[in-house]
Amino acid sequence: MKRIEALSPLLISQIAAGEVIERPASVLKELVENSLDAGARNIVVLLEEGGVRRIQVEDDGHGIHPDDLSLALQAHATSKLAATDPLNHIVTLGFRGEALASMAAVARVTVTARVAEAVHALTMTVSGGQVEGPRPAARSIGCSVVVEDLFSHTPARRKFLRSTSTEFGHCDELLRRLALAHPEVTFRLSHQGRALRHWPALTLEARVRGILGEDFLNQSLPIEDSAGPLHLSGWILHPTAASRAEQYLFVNGRFVRDRLLTQAVRQAYQDVLHGQRQPGGVLFLSLDPARVDVNVHPAKTEVRFEEGQAVFRFVWQALHKTLTRTTPGGLEFVER
Ligand code: ADP
Ligand code: MG
Repeated sequence: MKRIEALSPLLISQIAAGEVIERPASVLKELVENSLDAGARNIVVLLEEGGVRRIQVEDDGHGIHPDDLSLALQAHATSKLAATDPLNHIVTLGFRGEALASMAAVARVTVTARVAEAVHALTMTVSGGQVEGPRPAARSIGCSVVVEDLFSHTPARRKFLRSTSTEFGHCDELLRRLALAHPEVTFRLSHQGRALRHWPALTLEARVRGILGEDFLNQSLPIEDSAGPLHLSGWILHPTAASRAEQYLFVNGRFVRDRLLTQAVRQAYQDVLHGQRQPGGVLFLSLDPARVDVNVHPAKTEVRFEEGQAVFRFVWQALHKTLTRTTPGGLEFVER
């Protein structure tokens, strides 16, 4: 019989990393969310081989205090929690203090950061438990993170990665979601040395046009509605629109996949149009952060509403009103 043994810290972190880091796009999500949390106005993403070989994210956010650089790469260390009742006051995208440490367990991670008060930047590399630095480096205020050779020490994981173009596609889609939620930030994306995306900081409408296209805006209905602390805005594809669109749902600026919201949208469409069409659009729901739990899963795309039924009714009603008000008389309308 084999005896029980305690796992080594490296193995523990590799296992934990599996929950957060599934593929290059999950790394990219964590890095860009960190840049947004740091108040960046410009985010530059450089990818090689779909991000498997290299993911680099540069920002002009507030940087990392020189004394905190090694903490940034440590598990369960974060600068983002409120002093009292922290899990009920999450207003940042990150809060678990796990992402960089998880990456360092499954890739080679280099963080280079400079704060406004510092005369130079500091850089530090962690790979498979080995640490290099911190040592002085040159860069302007902000932070750059480079993640290289993802899963090179964990071949079981690496096997699940798809082709370069598939992995790039996931990264591109991920950046779209983040860019839709942050029109005030300029995003750039290059792959294999080719500049592919440039979304300059503009209005939300211009950002939606840039990402979902002029056709989408021409064929969609604007939505704007409030009920107490609940607020919904965005654009939904007209039920009779010829084109299709993805569905982008955001809760307090965070892209989510949520059954309750998807169901509310589908229900509203079914009221005006029979059939099982997946209604496309981009919708932003905001509510009191204390009334929604974002700590359901490490990837944070799932949320739990404290008053799910009220949220459902509000979203359904807001869409229903818009769809019935603007749907021309030719459309059949079924009152439920
Ligand atoms: P979390 O985002 O949950 O705090 P991370 O592992 O993603 O955990 O990051 C750890 C810490 O490193 C953050 O709390 C933040 O203080 C710092 N950090 C990471 N990326 C950046 C960045 N781009 N700019 C400024 N600080 C950063
Ligand atoms: Mg983070």
